[in-house]
Amino acid sequence: MTAARPGVVYLVGAGPGDPGLMTLRAAELLAGADTVLYDRLIPRLALARARPDAELVYVGKEPASPQLPQDEIERLMIDRARAGRSVVRLKGGDPFVFGRGGEEAEALVGAGVAFEVVPGVTAGVAAPAYAGIPVTHRDEASAVAFVTGHEDPAKDDSALDWEALAAFPGTLVMYMGVKRLPEIAERLIAAGRDAGEPAAAVERGTTAAQRTVTATLAELPAVAAEAGIGPPTIILTGPVAARRETIGWLERRPLHGRSVVVTRARAQASGLAATLAALGADVVELPAIRIEPRIDSPEVRQAARSIHAYALVCLTSANGARLLFEALDAAGRDARALANATVAAIGPGTAAELADHGINADIVPEQSIAEALVEALGQLELEGRPVLVARAAEARDVLPEALRERGAEVDVVALYETVAEDPDPEAIEAALDADYVTFTSSSTVKNFVSALGGRAPTRARLATIGPVTTQAAREAGLDVHVEAKRHDVDGLVEALLEDASRPPG
Ligand code: SAH
Repeated sequence: MTAARPGVVYLVGAGPGDPGLMTLRAAELLAGADTVLYDRLIPRLALARARPDAELVYVGKEPASPQLPQDEIERLMIDRARAGRSVVRLKGGDPFVFGRGGEEAEALVGAGVAFEVVPGVTAGVAAPAYAGIPVTHRDEASAVAFVTGHEDPAKDDSALDWEALAAFPGTLVMYMGVKRLPEIAERLIAAGRDAGEPAAAVERGTTAAQRTVTATLAELPAVAAEAGIGPPTIILTGPVAARRETIGWLERRPLHGRSVVVTRARAQASGLAATLAALGADVVELPAIRIEPRIDSPEVRQAARSIHAYALVCLTSANGARLLFEALDAAGRDARALANATVAAIGPGTAAELADHGINADIVPEQSIAEALVEALGQLELEGRPVLVARAAEARDVLPEALRERGAEVDVVALYETVAEDPDPEAIEAALDADYVTFTSSSTVKNFVSALGGRAPTRARLATIGPVTTQAAREAGLDVHVEAKRHDVDGLVEALLEDASRPPG
């Protein structure tokens, strides 16, 4: 595989919505492209993969406002490529399935601009799959047809041959048809399709907001209208639609239909957010805090240079562990500099980060709090010995104080600072209405409260990573409903799952 080349246009499918359904090739090209021309129906997080300095141009069609004319889009693409830029033309689903990708390729050929096509996962297959409907089935559908429902079925010169579609021996998958669903169903039935055939409509397939309705072909328009199903929706008719009853899997995931707020700093949120999303949650990222590394400070540089001299090195967060190794690296050192030290990690998350850098922590307390860490040090001789506590700038002083009480010569260095993140108004609204809010540290509590500016979630259950965070939440006037038994992200997820499986009421 090669990265995006200058002067080349890539017609790239971004998949149907779930960011995980983007191809590796799409991600690689996005990461390198100078210019990205994107449509409306692309995964929410796709653009986050683009280079921070890439030119991002929205060329999509809003339902209400006029679209950038097709020839404008083509001109833009050609101009940018001729200017020597690498261009990703990013489209929802697959670029050659009802995406006008064919026309754009032809325009590029006409202009003599080099291009490549990167197929994507098309909505017509993916949305049914996420609804538990296989578009083919050995017993029930040996063929599948992709059909545009955009045409007015009442038009005499309709490009669609309704008789042929009605007689088609397999599954019909319709794109862009939800607004005309009543006419489509009527037309198909009038042309001989079985009115009692199982059918389905899948709205926003593969996204957290996916909704599916099923009915007979004759009844689907009324059922979909009743549920308020609107674009983008895939309509499907064929016996396979009934398979959803057995195969439907999405709605069975443990956090399906629950919205969960993640308040961690963006750099670390992705792990928790992805885990929750994979369990079916609708994740609202409200990164209340951001990590600002301070590994360039004189104290940190000094500590990194002389780290071999410490008898004990204490890390109080996974961020701290990660940044300590960055600081060591900047000082031209590596894990070997810790060869003689006892290394203590406050909890399993911190220990895991250390392990990623080749250090198995000597001490990890049961409970991830400073008091427990001090206790876990047990009989370790500290009198007169040099100890390094590497941590966040605003951390509590329990640990250094307890170490000093035991006679240690303690140096405390701040590897990073957590600063408040500017809250996104949309995320705030979503947070106010969420089912769960998760807190992974006291600072996330503090910043969440200030981001909400006096308002509070109306019905959310609040979940914390452990007792210190719980206490911070209570002090901030919040009720805590769930506290993790294991004080790391996995423990928090476990606690959330347990709470979500409670019988209602
Ligand atoms: N090139 C795209 C299709 C573009 S046409 C692809 O291959 O998927 C736009 C239509 O695609 C919408 O009207 C809708 O019918 C369908 N569509 C796109 N994304 C969808 C989604 N997430 N869920 C359901 N239908 C979707």
